[in-house]
Amino acid sequence: MSETSQEIAENRPGYRPSEPLNESLQYLKGVGPQLAQVLAKLNLNTVGDLLRHYPRRWEDRSHFVHVEEVQGGEYATLCGTVIAVVTKFPKGPKFSITEALLDDNGSALRLTWFNQPYLERTFKAFAATRRKVIVYGQAKRSGWSVEMQTPDWEEVSEEGDTLSANRIVPVYPATEGVSQKRLRRLVHEAIESCSHLVEEMLPAEIILRHKLVSAPTAIRNIHYPETFAYKDAAQRRLVFEEFFLLQTLLALRRRANSAEAQGIRFRIDPEKLNADIREIVPFELTEAQKRSIREITADLESGRSMNRLLQGDVGSGKTMVALAAMLMAVENGYQAALMAPTEILAQQHAIVLRRLLEPIGMAVELSLGSQTKKEKEAVRERLLGGQSFLAVGTHALIQEGVEFAKLGLVIIDEQHRFGVLQRQALAKKGKRPHILVMTATPIPRTLTLTLYGDLDISILDELPPGRKPIATHWKTPDKHSQVYAAAQRLLSEGRQVYIVCSLIEESEKLQAKSAVQLSEHIATDIFPQYRVGLLHGQMKSADKDAVMACFKKHEIDILVSTTVIEVGIDVPNASVIMIEDADRFGLAQLHQLRGRVGRGEHASFCILIADPKTDVGRARLEVMTQTRDGFKIAEEDLKLRGPGDFYGTRQSGMPELLIGDILRDIDILTETRAAAFALVEGDPEMTKPENRALRRAIERTKTGFDLIGVS
Ligand code: ADP
Ligand code: MG
Repeated sequence: MSETSQEIAENRPGYRPSEPLNESLQYLKGVGPQLAQVLAKLNLNTVGDLLRHYPRRWEDRSHFVHVEEVQGGEYATLCGTVIAVVTKFPKGPKFSITEALLDDNGSALRLTWFNQPYLERTFKAFAATRRKVIVYGQAKRSGWSVEMQTPDWEEVSEEGDTLSANRIVPVYPATEGVSQKRLRRLVHEAIESCSHLVEEMLPAEIILRHKLVSAPTAIRNIHYPETFAYKDAAQRRLVFEEFFLLQTLLALRRRANSAEAQGIRFRIDPEKLNADIREIVPFELTEAQKRSIREITADLESGRSMNRLLQGDVGSGKTMVALAAMLMAVENGYQAALMAPTEILAQQHAIVLRRLLEPIGMAVELSLGSQTKKEKEAVRERLLGGQSFLAVGTHALIQEGVEFAKLGLVIIDEQHRFGVLQRQALAKKGKRPHILVMTATPIPRTLTLTLYGDLDISILDELPPGRKPIATHWKTPDKHSQVYAAAQRLLSEGRQVYIVCSLIEESEKLQAKSAVQLSEHIATDIFPQYRVGLLHGQMKSADKDAVMACFKKHEIDILVSTTVIEVGIDVPNASVIMIEDADRFGLAQLHQLRGRVGRGEHASFCILIADPKTDVGRARLEVMTQTRDGFKIAEEDLKLRGPGDFYGTRQSGMPELLIGDILRDIDILTETRAAAFALVEGDPEMTKPENRALRRAIERTKTGFDLIGVS
């Protein structure tokens, strides 16, 4: 059985039964069990939820116009007396048209509704009493006559206060089974009975300093503002509150993570570290790599736990930074673990690290789900026994009973694929180990503030020298033969080619099938003279690895693949990547895929094949052809698509945003960040009386409950 809205309300952290705002909506006038169920679909379970069911937009219906003034196509509000009503059934009983004639000082307005025959009775009653009706809708003008189809309407009440007209009217996110009108009435009812009970969670000092309106005023004016200026002030206040809460949570989390003297203090001799790196690494580190290593060193020496995000575009050399951090751990007698999202990636890390570290006598353990029991047993023994200091692996590192003798550093590659919980699960294998998370998904600065506000950040904003640019071209599917001819030239010069098949999100199986078909087509019809390999997600991991290894050794010329080659794979001789139906991929994903080439000394190409049908689709491809800067691409994608895809609140464990928009409201976000961090600095336990309401609000959120509920 599913929970009732009352149960959902009661199960919330911080629930207090005595508070009317926590009352189930069922107890509101006019809400029975059936409507309560419909409202639950909109996540509306309590009266408080209803108050925070913010309008999607507002319509200015505050000014009436007269029939003569109405422009065709314009949305307008008119008021008149009903003089005639009729319902016709032009195609039999299943289809009805109801028409009403409204008289506005001698000019007539014709109203039409489809399949709402019951309106006839309502309007006949209005006509009989010469009741005035207000209508809002898009006007159609033909000559002298003005018409509106399916307008919003409302009778002018005795007291003259209407909810759907004669004012600025809220338009809500709605769902089947509950109309705008109904929602307006319910929200209005909730405001009348409860808005004065809305708790002021912001400290008075913050309200004054940031010139905010009070919480009850904001709630009233976000729904039913008298003017748009009031609406704006209400909105600013509510956005501020939402971001302020979020930033306070981040500030608390950051504090919890780095509480004084909680971390392992490493001793690091920079001279020796540099000498070791020079001995192990066959090239000179970039300035960005050196800077990141210095930042990590400072963290590890501080005595507090490191919580650092290393952001660097594909190919920027994050692995070497990870290696340096690992060396520091080992030098201090601690173990280090590196977790990657896929077996291929974990293996590649193991290969790279072993090649560099085995010559100096350092073993690297590999832990994968696909290993035999015996292999797993052996890895476990060496890590628990403390013979081995370094481990690389997939989820297997947290799942398969792996334990460490003395884990001091946890590194997580491609962080976006893992949730906070997995990060913590691995960290729990040691006693407050240092944590370094790495990501090649460039995260716009705006989002870093919200998503990773509890982490310190290092950025690799420089590629290792000698990288050739990647020329990116967008071609429509009818240009396939031209594209193949270009690929042919490069193949004949000894280069290798990736072909990524169209993305099918619904099913792994279909995705694999389409990869198989494409590879057969390429091998038989297009390039019979070359060796074609195939890689997809349904293959056994040993088979995938074998194919990858062949491609690396140049025993395969053309690799047809799904997105499994997305991250981290390094084949310098591959200089072309063709992506089929590129418009189906996210920009960040295209950027990642493109990063597979341009890794050697050869000029490289990325060919996006696509015929997008929308302006946004075309704009996104344009962005790809114009820049190779991952951060810029991410910002553009964010602008074009909105934050939904990026934000991943569930993953970050942060409360969902109801009204704030991190793009539109970036100024408020920055403002709240400074204010919230200062507040937590001054009152880390949130015990000052003026912060009590804020504390309660934080306890009501899940993350906040964990954070201060414990202390
Ligand atoms: P990513 O940041 O995508 O994980 P990698 O660590 O895989 O990048 O590095 C990409 C490639 O660049 C690897 O082949 C690596 O050996 C090489 N590389 C890394 N740092 C440097 C450097 N400072 N100079 C030259 N090549 C480098
Ligand atoms: Mg990498």
